[in-house]
Amino acid sequence: MKKIYFTCIMLSGLFISSAYAQNINPNNNNQKTKAMKFELPKLPYATNALEPVISQQTIDFHYGKHLQAYITNLNNLIQGTKFENADLETIVKESDGAVFNNAGQTLNHNIYFLSFSPNGGGEPKGKLAEAINAAFGSFENFKKEFNAAGVSLFGSGWVWLAKDSAGKLQITKEANAGNPVTKGLTPLLGFDVWEHSYYLDYQNRRADHLAELWKIIDWNAVEAHY
Ligand code: MN
Repeated sequence: MKKIYFTCIMLSGLFISSAYAQNINPNNNNQKTKAMKFELPKLPYATNALEPVISQQTIDFHYGKHLQAYITNLNNLIQGTKFENADLETIVKESDGAVFNNAGQTLNHNIYFLSFSPNGGGEPKGKLAEAINAAFGSFENFKKEFNAAGVSLFGSGWVWLAKDSAGKLQITKEANAGNPVTKGLTPLLGFDVWEHSYYLDYQNRRADHLAELWKIIDWNAVEAHY
């Protein structure tokens, strides 16, 4: 009984002191908060849930290390610049150099990691399905063209399904941190063809990796961008 009572006192003490520390922290609402502006998006699935298409090890590195590094770099780079309070898309559209590279990769991976589901796959429905058929003839042909664009992209980059202001779809290839927002388009779906996205699981077989990704696409998430 004594032990339990003591533990309770200890725990409430910890709780009170951490709440107190937050309240009296003079930086709570200024610089310190801003410096931590962009954060890792929360994954809507467990890190091993996309196996065998994407292994837990790849998620741990790609999401936990690579994406975290882009976000940390971005937060550090924009401190004290005109981008300090800007939203991510604005930074991607208006920056260049290191800021663009880290902002672009943050935006790209935020879209990428939230477009998967262990219950994904199948085909899009409704208006997105109609737009895909209108632009590419059929869903099968769209996948073929998308995979071909990813395979033929030399070096590191992204292949995107994007829509213009009229809702018409197109596939764009972007080198490195590129995103179709810089061309006035809205990105709907992006496949990462940097080697870090597939090398642990597929080594040099980029085409095999891209072909497998369709099994985990969450079309509800993609349709939400359309
Ligand atoms: Mn990546």
